[in-house]
Amino acid sequence: MKARCPECDGEIEVYDDVINGEIVTCPECGMDFEVVIEEKGEIKLVPAEVEGEDWGE
Ligand SMILES: [Zn+2]
Repeated sequence: MKARCPECDGEIEVYDDVINGEIVTCPECGMDFEVVIEEKGEIKLVPAEVEGEDWGE
């Protein structure tokens, strides 16, 4: 399965059994994206939140 990078429009390979919330990395621009599987079964990629940033306490 292939998804399109929202950042650089490059192709990102995604496993067929990919799960919601999985992190994929674009080979073109190196950005990390979180996989969101929509109701129709379409895959959407949203920029992954950078861990280690503290909000509040
Ligand atoms: Zn990219």
